[in-house]
Amino acid sequence: MPGLSTAQDRRLQWPASPLHAWGWDPGYNHVSHQVLRPIAITPVVPSRLDSPVVSRVRLQRNEAIVLKRRDFGEADRILTLYTRERGKVSAIAKGVRRITSRLGGHVELFTHGQMLLAQGRNLDVLTQADTIQTFRGLREDLIRTTYAYHAAELVDRFSEEGMAAEAIFDLLRDCLDGLCDAEDPALVLRFFELRLLGLLGYRPQFFQCVACGETLEPAGNAFDAEAGGVLCPGCAQRAPTAIPLSESAFRVLRFLQTRSLATARQVALQQATRAELERIMHAYVRHILERDLRSVEFLERLRRMTPAAAHASTPTRTAAQTSTRTSTRTSASSSQTSSAATSASSLDSISDPTPTDPTEPIDPTDPTGETNP
Ligand SMILES: [Zn+2]
Repeated sequence: MPGLSTAQDRRLQWPASPLHAWGWDPGYNHVSHQVLRPIAITPVVPSRLDSPVVSRVRLQRNEAIVLKRRDFGEADRILTLYTRERGKVSAIAKGVRRITSRLGGHVELFTHGQMLLAQGRNLDVLTQADTIQTFRGLREDLIRTTYAYHAAELVDRFSEEGMAAEAIFDLLRDCLDGLCDAEDPALVLRFFELRLLGLLGYRPQFFQCVACGETLEPAGNAFDAEAGGVLCPGCAQRAPTAIPLSESAFRVLRFLQTRSLATARQVALQQATRAELERIMHAYVRHILERDLRSVEFLERLRRMTPAAAHASTPTRTAAQTSTRTSTRTSASSSQTSSAATSASSLDSISDPTPTDPTEPIDPTDPTGETNP
């Protein structure tokens, strides 16, 4: 390099090892201290140990779920984690792609674990990880994996770093757990979407018409993503972009919005209703985020490639299993009318909170619905 002495020239080279960064290298012994000083990081002297600069580097033990990961450099990975304590956090897992890495098995996609993170200015550094749950069931079925990917993508898209939300963490963990073994994973995903949107302040309105405020009856409604809820038949006629809503889909949406996950999982859906619910929720999420989700595109591609998967949003259920579920449901809910129990083959016959009056709204202040008769 013209105009520079050999020593200065060498000094400008990128340090090859951590020791270089600290200004030490056997090959540099001949270089005078004057030349070395500029590349040496200011030495830590006792008086500096108490300074805020040093104390800012601290370790955090966080319970986290891996939302996303991408390769970085030769052997590292950048992880997007959702932590119970701090919400969304980006962290680098150094050397994790090497076979010898101790972290490797603990930072697979969707893994739930305890992670020790050294807080950095831009990126935390993952220093230790212990798995709590791997959600193995997600990896054994492509549809379940795609649904989990969708849930993780939603949390990622809707969260900003530093926005902590314990409720979202618990919801995501319960959803991944449910997706592993639910008979109908689509139901778990729809429940997750409705709850997540509620926690984020986008709770869709299923009880009063979003245009005129009338209490909704089950028939003839439409879903208006822009207005954030359901339109009554009269208002639906004046909203050409609203999606017509079948009676069954309307009932299921209200049911999922106000019941616990365990209760919601008892519902059995017909394929047409399942597809309708997916269309409506995707339209609503797309409207709020103003973009398509990669997981939705992937799901559509998957269905085009394997037409069988189009109807495999729920695993094949045996007749025996179906009847078991029917009886469980009947005994679990004393309020269920016999007609509801017998029509369990049509899943859309799930009982609304008050089977005698299916149009009566569910009490929104009781999201679990457990106190309902
Ligand atoms: Zn109306």
